[in-house]
Amino acid sequence: MRAGHCWWRWHRGHADDVETITVIERGTGPAAEVCACLPCARRLAGQFPHGQLAKAAVAAMEKRAAVREAHRA
Ligand SMILES: [Zn+2]
Repeated sequence: MRAGHCWWRWHRGHADDVETITVIERGTGPAAEVCACLPCARRLAGQFPHGQLAKAAVAAMEKRAAVREAHRA
């Protein structure tokens, strides 16, 4: 789990748990990692071509969210 910046336009802010959803290859310079938090990543499903990276990211965040819920209960 890592905190970071969620890049999606409806959020664009800090999130306690983000994962790299996709990597944008640029012609020059390093590839840009695009991170999203779980609510945004869920919202992206269906709107965005979910690659393996995104699927793995959502699965990892869902798992951590379930663990957090279990601890809260
Ligand atoms: Zn977000």
